[in-house]
Amino acid sequence: MNLEIKDNVFIVSGGSKGIGEGITRAIVAEGGIPVIATRSTEATIRISGELSKTSNKHHYVIGDLRDTEFCKKIIDETVEKFGRIDGIVNNAGVNDGAGLEAGPGAFRKSIDLNLFHYYDMVHYALPFLKESKGSIVNISSKVALTGQGGTSGYAAAKGAQLALTREWAADLLKYSIRVNAIIPAEVMTPLYRNWLDTFDNPDQKESGIKSKIPLGQRMTTTEEIASMVVFLLSPKSSHTTGQIITVDGGYVHLDRSLT
Ligand code: NAP
Repeated sequence: MNLEIKDNVFIVSGGSKGIGEGITRAIVAEGGIPVIATRSTEATIRISGELSKTSNKHHYVIGDLRDTEFCKKIIDETVEKFGRIDGIVNNAGVNDGAGLEAGPGAFRKSIDLNLFHYYDMVHYALPFLKESKGSIVNISSKVALTGQGGTSGYAAAKGAQLALTREWAADLLKYSIRVNAIIPAEVMTPLYRNWLDTFDNPDQKESGIKSKIPLGQRMTTTEEIASMVVFLLSPKSSHTTGQIITVDGGYVHLDRSLT
């Protein structure tokens, strides 16, 4: 299937590591132009060097998404360089373990880290998304549906992203801008690795989790998440909006007796 996104411009927050890196690469594979917005300088320079060896156009902007001015700069630079924005993938986030014991300060910091930039990116991109009849994809988490324990801030932010997906889908119908969310569950990324390494026996924890994933007893790959994201960015999903799609091998929804 040709996804028909050649030369379309998509901003991917956190687009040089983990799931975001997968999305950047999938956009490139379809002939689209990714703009990586992240604080991960080293990883971004590595990917940019790789992409520069091909004919694919791309761009990156380095900074911290908690800074609203940085979010505005991403949009300004993208428009200056390419003259258009066809989609936003809100992906950057950190499961920072700000639980009930951590206190109000940690809770607020966690929301700052995981939520406000999802709004800021869409706010600043809106005039250009109206022009392109663009698409927005919010990467949330299974934690929004299942809880995890010990991570109030992340859970609240991930839940709010789902609420905003429905709210924006309704709000932006009049501009034919589509808004959807993806829920990953267990995907091996640098973030996930860090989390696993907090356990006494990470290997045992990892195989325990895998054994409970119904489809194939394995983790979801970043490519599998990215394929769904790029489909939702593309005109091939032109009548899909306000949807919350769980890409997790059946982990969250299938009958537990299966595993
Ligand atoms: P990751 O490997 O840590 O990659 C995320 C990237 O975003 C990193 O480069 C990170 O930089 C960057 N980033 C985070 N906060 C930022 C900020 N404030 N400003 C600029 N850049 C920032 O994470 P991932 O596992 O791919 O997760 C991507 C998304 O999927 C997140 O929203 C996460 O909640 C969601 N998710 C992941 C899983 C999973 O199994 N991996 C499951 C459910 C949901 P640093 O490396 O410097 O932090």
